[in-house]
Amino acid sequence: MTLRILSHSLQRRIAARLWVIWLVGCAAVWGGLCDSSLHAAEKLSVLLIDGQNNHDWKATTPVLVNALESTGKFTVTVATTPPAKSPDAAWSDFRPDFSTYDVVMSNYNGELWPEAVQKSLENYVGDGGGLVIVHAANNAFPQWSAWNEMIGLGWRGADFGPRVTVDDKGEVVETAKGEGPGAGHGPQHEYPIIVRDRKHPVMDGIPAEWMHAKDELYHGQRGPAANMHILATAYSSTDQGGTGTNEPMVWWIPFGKGKVFTTVMGHADYSMKCIGFQTILGRGTEWASTGKVTLPVPKNFPTAEGASSVE
Ligand code: ZN
Repeated sequence: MTLRILSHSLQRRIAARLWVIWLVGCAAVWGGLCDSSLHAAEKLSVLLIDGQNNHDWKATTPVLVNALESTGKFTVTVATTPPAKSPDAAWSDFRPDFSTYDVVMSNYNGELWPEAVQKSLENYVGDGGGLVIVHAANNAFPQWSAWNEMIGLGWRGADFGPRVTVDDKGEVVETAKGEGPGAGHGPQHEYPIIVRDRKHPVMDGIPAEWMHAKDELYHGQRGPAANMHILATAYSSTDQGGTGTNEPMVWWIPFGKGKVFTTVMGHADYSMKCIGFQTILGRGTEWASTGKVTLPVPKNFPTAEGASSVE
């Protein structure tokens, strides 16, 4: 009997504790729901465009999406264009509504978009939207003049327009159209990135020099090169098939009320797994959209001595 009484008492205490645990659990779940819905509301919506590229966009788009979404700051929607040589009817369905997104990113290098899409993007950025250009996205659309204004420099021949580099004193040097090398790159290798504007919100807190993972090092890019704010460069060594000067790697350009942020890093999935690339991609995307940067510089950011990549 005594045992049974004790047992009942124990049961009541256990029941009471379970009740408390259940209440606490509910509060945690409810709080979590509120918290995550709050964060969802704060997230920036990114429209990432792919579908044609002389690069493996099917491998690189997921790396870009993961790099952005793993910060907790972005939700990414991918808009894939029709493949090359599609009939006009296929293109008539490609009408991304840029205005419903906080920022647009291009991982696209292919056929010219329909004129309606071109105008829509021009209006979107002109009205204050953000646009982010990754690597070969700057190879696209030499015939689209507003695009050339937005990207500043693209993969073009020397006769297309001027080129800009940075000398050892940090001064921007313009090379005239037709003079010097056109667009190219040597063999892929790891190379140091030099931050040229450490006060810019995207670069604030990033080491002045850090080692980038294996990538192409674009040189001789050409374009209107107007209103370029160069944020980072890399030395293009002649030993690596380069030009012997500091080539722009990261820059931004105002277009109307909007901002266009370019990184020419990011040839392949392994290049994009560089923590330096991903940090600048995330911060640049946030800044192009909002004009502010809240994303931190991670502790495992590359150093001058060594590259650092995500798994
Ligand atoms: Zn490439």
